[in-house]
Amino acid sequence: MHAESGVVAGEVKNLLPPEELLGAWASSAALVYCRDWEGRILAGNQTFARKFGFAVGDLAERSVTTLLHQDDASAIQNANADLVREPHCAAFESRWLTPQGWRWIAWEETVLLDPEKRPYGARSVGHDITRQHLAEERNFKLSGAVEQSPVAIVITDALGNVQYVNAKFTEATGYTLEHLLDDDVCVLREGHPDEHSYQQFWETVQSGREWRGELMRERPDGKKVWESVQVSCMRNPQGAISNFLCMREDITSRRTLEDQLRQAQKMESLGTLAGGIAHDFNNIIAVMNGYAEFAMLNPGDTALVAKCMREIQKATQRASALVRQILTFSRKADVKFAPVDLNQLVRELVSLLAETFPRNISFNYSFAENLPPLLADHNQLHQVILNLCLNARDAMAAGGTLSISTTQVAGAAVPSSLVNGRPYACLAFTDTGTGMSAEVRARIFEPFFTTKAVNKGTGLGLAVVYGIVTSHEGTIEVESDLGQGTTFKVYLPLAENSVALPALLKQGDFPGGTESVLIVDDEAPLRYLLEAALTRKGYKIESASDGLEAIDRIATNPHRYDIVLLDLNMPGASGIDVYKVIKVANPELPVLIITGHLTPEARAECERLGQKHFLKKPYALDELGRILRTLLARE
Ligand code: ADP
Ligand code: MG
Repeated sequence: MHAESGVVAGEVKNLLPPEELLGAWASSAALVYCRDWEGRILAGNQTFARKFGFAVGDLAERSVTTLLHQDDASAIQNANADLVREPHCAAFESRWLTPQGWRWIAWEETVLLDPEKRPYGARSVGHDITRQHLAEERNFKLSGAVEQSPVAIVITDALGNVQYVNAKFTEATGYTLEHLLDDDVCVLREGHPDEHSYQQFWETVQSGREWRGELMRERPDGKKVWESVQVSCMRNPQGAISNFLCMREDITSRRTLEDQLRQAQKMESLGTLAGGIAHDFNNIIAVMNGYAEFAMLNPGDTALVAKCMREIQKATQRASALVRQILTFSRKADVKFAPVDLNQLVRELVSLLAETFPRNISFNYSFAENLPPLLADHNQLHQVILNLCLNARDAMAAGGTLSISTTQVAGAAVPSSLVNGRPYACLAFTDTGTGMSAEVRARIFEPFFTTKAVNKGTGLGLAVVYGIVTSHEGTIEVESDLGQGTTFKVYLPLAENSVALPALLKQGDFPGGTESVLIVDDEAPLRYLLEAALTRKGYKIESASDGLEAIDRIATNPHRYDIVLLDLNMPGASGIDVYKVIKVANPELPVLIITGHLTPEARAECERLGQKHFLKKPYALDELGRILRTLLARE
């Protein structure tokens, strides 16, 4: 025994004594041991023995196979094979069982030779590399996760220059990192509709905040995709922003579904609205009919006849407003943000809706004065108001009061999810209905969640409302308790001060003139009306009852007229045909297109030909008179 030398050897082949087997390694801080080809331990130093929980004296004759992970047994065999060949050394990593559990150890081995210079074993010098191994494994997993992520990932430097893109990004966009670098593509800019949007994004992320949004991008094959984009910053150990991490996920199919849902839901609410519309129309018809009869019974009383005519005219205005509303409402999807007078919208729609509500529900209004316009999609706002009112109605089966209010809120009154310094409109609906339990309240915005009977509710209403409000960069809040009624508050951002509502034309007289006007319309009563009204105002009027006649007149005397009022839909030569002739015969001649149905295609065609002025039928005479003056004054 040579325990006092710190070295032990087996009685193998009676070769070198253990201290010589280990040599200078005996006192090394590295793990050192010697073994024969069968894996029997011949000697081991202190570090080695301690690592495996043995006394140095207990090492002899132990077999490495009891310490070695079975999956790594081949590593030793491979090492043995290397050791008998030139240059008689081997290196490998393997797992060993210690009292602390499995450890990764990196071994470097050299061959042991007997006196006849025949190899009989190996001397191994090892280092515990478990920690590096774990770190490597972790990095490997992390980079694998990023590389194989189903979400497209981009990493840029602090200036937005791209440094890394993962495989999904390349798959989704067709761009590899090399492409992006070669073409100097600003990936973070992609999808932002305008410079303003991009600047806002850039300010957000540079101030260290996270940015989220939905952007539309055109793929190389021309297909449009919607992506949910999230950008956050990465910081170096000093806390400075070193990189930006951008994740983009294709949500096109979700958007499509949402659109379909909105459309389906709109149809559903349209059905409800139809009841109100029919009711309103009946009223209008009754008014017109009544006054017409009245006038016919008293033809001699001119004052009375004039009064009847005024009432009839008012009724037609109401009717055309109604038609306009139905048309805007039933038109499909195209979302258009424009300044909207919230008070007016609510007033109009709710009064219509109120007609369909049971009589035991009363309405209460409170409108903010001088509320600035919203930038919103008119149709979508309709749906929000409609859905919230219908839900309130359903909750008040036994009757009650629906209070609707608009207020302007700013500062602390704005919900915390919206704090950005902008002023908001708050549109609140308070009912005195059943209220909701906390369980119901928690789920109301889920699509298809409903507590109503099968044919009474679809559970889509609030899901659609939620979608619309969020897409308007607003938010919705609900307060409700069982038996205590419910309040929904919709917050929508007000437009910047600069946008103005389209000026409402004031009713009343309109200015006259002495210019020469050509009226082209195949609808005789409308033509007569215009002729009469404009002649009264001093204009010289000629008219054409169809397109061919108009072309004839213009072609024979192109400079006879100062302006042409042109209908578009006519049999024979259409308004557009007439317009083309005018452009050739007298390009300076101003034209006002008056039409009951201006399709986007017709409008585009007119605009392509250079036409800018359109008036929709039905129109008010004074509106027409004013536009006429404006156009003539321009000449
Ligand atoms: P639906 O009206 O088709 O059921 P919604 O999405 O509009 O679907 O509403 C979901 C659920 O939310 C309703 O079924 C109802 O339980 C609850 N809810 C909505 N509004 C109110 C309200 N004003 N008072 C009480 N419960 C309401
Ligand atoms: Mg509903």
